Amino acid sequence: MAVDVLSMEPAALERLMEEADLPRYRGRQLFHALWKTRIASYDALSVWPAALRARAAGEWPLMRVVPLERQKARDGTEKIVVGLFDGEQVEMVLLPHRFGWSVCVSTQVGCAIGCHFCASGLLGKTRNLSAGEIADQVALAEVILAERGERVRRVDLMGIGEPLDNYAGTVGGLHLMHDPNGLGLSYRHLTVSTSGLVPRIQKLAEEGMPVTLAVSLHAPNDDVRGELMPINRAYPIARLMDALATYWERTRRRITYEYLLIDGVNDGVPLARELVRLIRRFPAHVNLIPWNPVPEFPYRPSPAAQVAAFRKVLDEAGVSCTVRRELGQEIEAACGQLRRSVGKGTPSPPLAEKAAGHPPSEGGA
Ligand code: SF4
Repeated sequence: MAVDVLSMEPAALERLMEEADLPRYRGRQLFHALWKTRIASYDALSVWPAALRARAAGEWPLMRVVPLERQKARDGTEKIVVGLFDGEQVEMVLLPHRFGWSVCVSTQVGCAIGCHFCASGLLGKTRNLSAGEIADQVALAEVILAERGERVRRVDLMGIGEPLDNYAGTVGGLHLMHDPNGLGLSYRHLTVSTSGLVPRIQKLAEEGMPVTLAVSLHAPNDDVRGELMPINRAYPIARLMDALATYWERTRRRITYEYLLIDGVNDGVPLARELVRLIRRFPAHVNLIPWNPVPEFPYRPSPAAQVAAFRKVLDEAGVSCTVRRELGQEIEAACGQLRRSVGKGTPSPPLAEKAAGHPPSEGGA
């Protein structure tokens, strides 16, 4: 297995250089070139002598993600099919907001969790993404947005995959996004979604990274949640809420609950009242999301009147709540619609080339 320099933090790169009988500062130079200059090949690492560049290309191949296809919706949302070094593909999404742009990135090729409303889990999981592959989607987003004079303001690990089922890749990717010499994003602007892997939530609480945790709740009791999310059988709601309490106590980050509204399944007013009682324990925010159609599932999105009735219960109880705008639905880039795509062709040369050697971002979102 090739040494994956894209996933290494500065200290690890310094050690790698030392082991290769090179000065440690070469590690810092490489980290800067990977994440600030965003080199696509060692040829662009001009501060290294030609012989070292040639050696590095042979010993430490750069496994950057490559944009293969781009699709834009009328609302400005852009879905990008991203190629990985081994030919696998995932999807990432750029989303416009009032505060600027966010990027939703994938953490696994496919997903093993198999929620009964989500396209991403339909083919199961093929492999985890590396820390470098996760962070590199954000670097790619920075390249694309810089062309418009924009930059990434927020990152959501909410694309394909369960981030906490790829714990090492996710935590490593967050470090690379946060490092001031990496992508320089504040932890507070990074959100990790989870279907509710209780032991991993407890572990994440101890990492000392105050990232926002967004929990796919989708129902306030085990009966309804168990129907929608098989994971609820392993980690029922009572255990999930205890883990979230720990997360709140350690990080002081308000928990975000994602709640897809599915017509006649989980959108009744009594369930809204039950939700209010469930989440009162610590500060929380609820994202209500009318379910985005996926042809393989028999559901319908909740009608607008039902969404409003559900929201009214939360508002009257003083629960912080938003109804998420339906960005990117027409290009299947909305929540739960991303899927592992295969055989979409070769990298599109213009963007693939632009992804290399773009001016560095200033960092510090
Ligand atoms: S909602 Fe998340 S955890 Fe569930 S199947 Fe989809 S990607 Fe996996």
